[in-house]
Amino acid sequence: MKYISDELKTIKKSGLYRELNSVEGSQGTHLEIKGKTYLSFCSNNYLGLANNPLVIKAVKDAVGRYGWGAGASRLVSGNMRLHEVLEGEISRFKGKEASIVFPTGYMANVGTISSLVSKGGLVICDKLNHASIIDGCRLSGADFRVYPHCDMKKLENILKKATKYSRKLIVTDTVFSMDGDIAPLPDIVRIAHKYNAMVMADEAHGTGVFGENGRGVVEHFNLSKKVSIVMGTLSKAVGSLGGYVSGDADLINFLRNKARPFMYTTALPPAVCAASIAGIKLIRKNPSLRKSLWNNVRYLKKELDLLNFNLIPSESPIIPILIGDAKKAVDMSKLLYKKGILIPAIRPPTVPTRSSRLRMTVMSTHTRKDLERLLEVLSDV
Ligand SMILES: *Cc1c(COP(=O)(O)O)cnc(C)c1O
Repeated sequence: MKYISDELKTIKKSGLYRELNSVEGSQGTHLEIKGKTYLSFCSNNYLGLANNPLVIKAVKDAVGRYGWGAGASRLVSGNMRLHEVLEGEISRFKGKEASIVFPTGYMANVGTISSLVSKGGLVICDKLNHASIIDGCRLSGADFRVYPHCDMKKLENILKKATKYSRKLIVTDTVFSMDGDIAPLPDIVRIAHKYNAMVMADEAHGTGVFGENGRGVVEHFNLSKKVSIVMGTLSKAVGSLGGYVSGDADLINFLRNKARPFMYTTALPPAVCAASIAGIKLIRKNPSLRKSLWNNVRYLKKELDLLNFNLIPSESPIIPILIGDAKKAVDMSKLLYKKGILIPAIRPPTVPTRSSRLRMTVMSTHTRKDLERLLEVLSDV
């Protein structure tokens, strides 16, 4: 067991040690930690739905009616009414024939990618894709190629040389979770079509945030008909928990029969599905949520530009300040913490070496005063 404490020491020495903060109240723009209140810029709860009164009411009603646990896998006896209502709601929202819900987005990626390609197939990823995509690719046993971030020439080169593969899958985040930029989806779709490859888009940070109706980046680019595999999570803007894939009925039936993280795990508690259903309805019916989010994003970016920080060019509510050195990023984050502001230092292996950063996320429920306070503290440090 000595290697465990040795490795921990190495992690600590390089400034990469991670610790848990214990949040005492509920999730909102302000978080209570060790009896003190902090202004938070680190949540993916973009629209404040994790703590919305209508979501909470939906959960209470569902618990009253359906109890808590699902008791078994979906394929045994855990498939309850609300799982199916949720899948129907997602399909309508995404404009797809059918959907499948997994307990988390992580499991949706791992299960879907490892079902769609296997030994003898090819899976192609953007260098900055989310860890759950990378893990799915590794687990699939397919040949795995990576192109530099958003480099369409390199993507095309990989496909040009891939004539021996009959099954080819391109997977991309639509909003890159640590940089906040968006994938050149129209180009990816065009290239995929030319070389007969499938496209899977991960809308984890796109859903509820982008597009005329909040459906995501696929809608933003008007590509709903052209991206055949749309994945996303219910854990970010929707404010709940769960991952999903939407597509045609054959794809979804295939995943129900093949995806091990769907087959061999207990179904989500039905009340969690009730929260997701309520969250999606709120997104569909309240464009004002998105509007106030984007107003906050625009204001903050404009003001940050004036402060001369080394901002990573972002196109979303994810706004990273590039620091470089991991220890320095941690020191900055600690300094902000002392001043009552929560912004996490993101370090390797989450991001490439020497690209440690402070990653801010904005919420629709931040007030102008909250943003002014952030700017005031940032200009001090
Ligand atoms: C957060 C995230 C996931 C995982 O979703 P969870 O529901 O939190 O497991 C997958 N892909 C991307 C791009 C993400 O940002």
